[in-house]
Amino acid sequence: MIWTMLKIVLFLAAVAGLTLGAEALLDQQAGLRLAFAETEFTLGPVQMALAAMALLAGLWLLMKLAGLTVATLRFINGDETALSRHFERNRRARGLEALTDGYLALAAGEGEKALTKARKAEKLLNDQPLTTLLVAQSAQAKGNSALAEEYYKRLLEDERSRFVGVQGLLAQQIEAGNPTKARKLAETALSLRPGHGATQDRLLLLQNKAGDWQGARRTLLEAARSGRLPKPVYQRRDAVLTLQQAEAEAALGHTATAQDLAIEANRLSPELIPAAARAAAALVAQGKAAAAAKLVKRAWKAQPHPELAQAYAAIAPDEAPAARLARFEPLLAQAPGPEAQMTRAELLIAAEDFPGARRAMGDLHQSHPTQRAMTIMAAIDRGEGSADTVVRGWLARALIAPRGEQWVCGNCHHEHARWHALCHQCGAFDTLAWTTPPDSSGPSATGTEMLPLIVGVLPPAMPEDSPVVEAEPLDTPPEPDRPAAEVIDLDKTRRLGL
Ligand SMILES: [Zn+2]
Repeated sequence: MIWTMLKIVLFLAAVAGLTLGAEALLDQQAGLRLAFAETEFTLGPVQMALAAMALLAGLWLLMKLAGLTVATLRFINGDETALSRHFERNRRARGLEALTDGYLALAAGEGEKALTKARKAEKLLNDQPLTTLLVAQSAQAKGNSALAEEYYKRLLEDERSRFVGVQGLLAQQIEAGNPTKARKLAETALSLRPGHGATQDRLLLLQNKAGDWQGARRTLLEAARSGRLPKPVYQRRDAVLTLQQAEAEAALGHTATAQDLAIEANRLSPELIPAAARAAAALVAQGKAAAAAKLVKRAWKAQPHPELAQAYAAIAPDEAPAARLARFEPLLAQAPGPEAQMTRAELLIAAEDFPGARRAMGDLHQSHPTQRAMTIMAAIDRGEGSADTVVRGWLARALIAPRGEQWVCGNCHHEHARWHALCHQCGAFDTLAWTTPPDSSGPSATGTEMLPLIVGVLPPAMPEDSPVVEAEPLDTPPEPDRPAAEVIDLDKTRRLGL
């Protein structure tokens, strides 16, 4: 308010001053006489004032012209000016437009168009990580892997885009089927961002496939540290990896290391069957039989398994059949069921108590008709001196019976003869469970269900050493020709480690 008042006062004072000055000039008779050669100019006071103003205007124009000349020279020289700034802004706008179009084309799966736009954006927007990434991704989408690689490598130069560059190269190597290079790149990527979940999973997968169990354990620990795995899941997976590591060390002949790792795997996951079996063997080798028995009992209670019975038998390899039977009794009693029944029957057969073995089996051949149950029944009948036709009948039933529990992948249902951390079929990690395969029972395509009846009523005059399959009139699955007694003995010795 005061300022406004002051301005009005100043304006009035200036107008008054000018009026007074003009009046004073008009009153004065004095003038300016200018002489150019022969010509003489006489300027009055007002003309003098006008001439002064014209002179000032001329000077101002001259200075402006000089400024413009300097600006033009600088523009030609390449310096930034308003004009160059205008062009730069225009260029940038076109660059951003090309970049947007490029990313949209990439998202739409149009590799060719994306690459064209990316190249344009790259020219207009200098060498920015964004355009470099777009060129790399577009080249990859188009299938030009050499160009993609070149641009992913450029991303490595800038600290901000290094991780993305490594990820791009990693994806390329996985796609090209180079697991060794891919694993190294994944390790580099994880060293740049240790908590990156997708990279952890990717590296773990590559390490598992390569059998780098020690590296896989480190990666798993990283995943657990970044809070991605609940503790029980981490422990179970670590146990699985430790067990694989133990097996790998054992294969290399590093017995002591393998033993320590097996015991560690069992400590991490006491119910992991193969770990318990291997740990028990390790403890027996170290002279700790009681500890071995304890851990086998614990695992058996969770899930009875032939491998555990074998490990338990190996605790006292030279004991008499009766003593073994007595030692097994507390183990078998803690988890009654088909596995306990069949193990008990096998032990009784070894002790030549065939009626006892029959009682132990009960009606298992009907309620749980597996190859193993049929084979045990054949052994019992043979031991009791039954007719050969009866024994052969059991063995023929065994041929077409379901195989019973197996290591089955929960992901693809593939069956495995031995446990492994990875499914041999689908490569999934820790999916193998000891269970009955979904498709191992039911009528067979070749109609061999009648076989036991046919084989079971064979004339007793048949020669003693005649192979079983020769008597089969129907198509049957190929099976090695073996006399019945050999089948039984092999089976028994394999399972109980006798
Ligand atoms: Zn599988």
